[in-house]
Amino acid sequence: MHKALKAAGRPQDSAILTAVSKTQAWSAIEPVLEAGQRRFGENRVQEAVERWDGKRDLYPGLELRLIGPLQSNKAADAVAFFDVIETVDRDKIARAIADEIQKQARSPQLLIQVNIGEEEQKAGIAPREADTFIKTARETYGLTVAGLMCIPPVEGPRGPCFALLKKIAGRNGITQLSMGMSDDYETALAFGSTEIRVGSAIFGARS
Ligand SMILES: *Cc1c(COP(=O)(O)O)cnc(C)c1O
Repeated sequence: MHKALKAAGRPQDSAILTAVSKTQAWSAIEPVLEAGQRRFGENRVQEAVERWDGKRDLYPGLELRLIGPLQSNKAADAVAFFDVIETVDRDKIARAIADEIQKQARSPQLLIQVNIGEEEQKAGIAPREADTFIKTARETYGLTVAGLMCIPPVEGPRGPCFALLKKIAGRNGITQLSMGMSDDYETALAFGSTEIRVGSAIFGARS
């Protein structure tokens, strides 16, 4: 990560690392915590609660990010538990999160997920609908949109996907870009990523 930032002529503190701990055994996570990592990404609300509940006292500064698709019936739990929700991607979820933020007087940071490759099987708002959705999230639901997140298609070049996310962010006055995983984080950082989400390159293959 540091090499890639340097190569891109970017300051070392211009991007953050989220260690993606989904499906990992605690025995794999503990050494990463001991090494000082405090920011973790999880795919499922329930799994995250089971894994991390009670750990905040043991590891001050722990920051938990939801990076998997969110169902509206889990919005209450997600708002209660996560520091950051990266997968706001439709009207129903935006509304459910806004309601819970009011009810719980908690305000996790919110990112909008963009289905950058317009893939059937992936979550996220379509790129051409992103501007409207960002506006709705802000104006209709009063949400603060901190950033955008994407997962590019497995096949094909990643650069254009990252460039497109950055362009959508730029024209909406958004600065945080969650993009880049184990196999493409260097490219993502070259294209302006401010957060990479890395699982297998840290923990090894998932079970
Ligand atoms: C699993 C996952 C990652 C991490 O993937 P790796 O290839 O293991 O680095 C990053 N982002 C999201 C949204 C994921 O679901």
